[in-house]
Amino acid sequence: MSAKSVAALRRWGKELLCKAEVENAVAECDWLLCHALGCTTTEMLLMETAASDSNARFTELINRRAAGEPVQYLLGKWDFYGLTFDVGEGVLIPRPETELLAQRAVEIASEIPTPVIVDLCAGTGCIGLTIARQVPQSQVWLVEKSSEAFAYLQQNAARFAATNTTLLQGDILTHDFCGIPPCDIICANPPYIPASKLLTLQREVRCEPAMALNGGADGLDFYRAIAASWTGGQRLRADTQRNRTPIKPGSTILLELGDGQYEAVAHMFKEKGFEVSAISDNAGHLRVLEARKKENT
Ligand code: GLN
Repeated sequence: MSAKSVAALRRWGKELLCKAEVENAVAECDWLLCHALGCTTTEMLLMETAASDSNARFTELINRRAAGEPVQYLLGKWDFYGLTFDVGEGVLIPRPETELLAQRAVEIASEIPTPVIVDLCAGTGCIGLTIARQVPQSQVWLVEKSSEAFAYLQQNAARFAATNTTLLQGDILTHDFCGIPPCDIICANPPYIPASKLLTLQREVRCEPAMALNGGADGLDFYRAIAASWTGGQRLRADTQRNRTPIKPGSTILLELGDGQYEAVAHMFKEKGFEVSAISDNAGHLRVLEARKKENT
């Protein structure tokens, strides 16, 4: 492939993404062009010619984006709460609405002298690593089942030199995490899409791992499991084989929710003696459930 004018590549990329009905075509074309050129937007705007290898890289990226691959996977990184996370095939892309949950966790953790926090279904680690960074006196445990996602989690934890974190690979539905001490905050953005809806999702979302999205028949499997096994109150067995992580009285569980799931999930935690409330997102959806374990339980 030959060298080409940057302006011509820009025009071509935008046109192709618009034709492919990419919502954010103009911005995404520029992000991909900068990525292919290895430069900032300002540098790209001042550049006249793209060398043949950059031209080839950009052409491939635009064609893949037009075919439906998420721009975040093509860039290999994405921002969340002011930090840049490594992302790619096999791990859920951090979403802006999840920042609500991270922000609330940071607020609560900042009030506790040495908080212990667990991030279940950690994926990239966007929630747990953000808390670890914002609240340096915290100890954050991050749990992820998928080996592909776990590799991203390790990469991101190493990148932020997060020394106040422990990464665990395992399934929160079946595994007992004996090593985790009693927690002050449990966070999770679990898979919550009903299985029957997976094939109806936007084409970009269908590129993300089903394991990170599929919440079972009604989308609520993980909330049920968290309510059953991560709410404390169980007697610890002497052999410690079947211990569940106890949470301290007065502690908080923060869960991201899918649309319309608040009532059902709130009921599960009320039944366990928690006080529950909701945080709404910008679209007015009840996006985060906050469940507080009463002091006397
Ligand atoms: N905690 C990660 C996120 O919110 C991953 C969640 C998941 O894989 N379901 O992006």
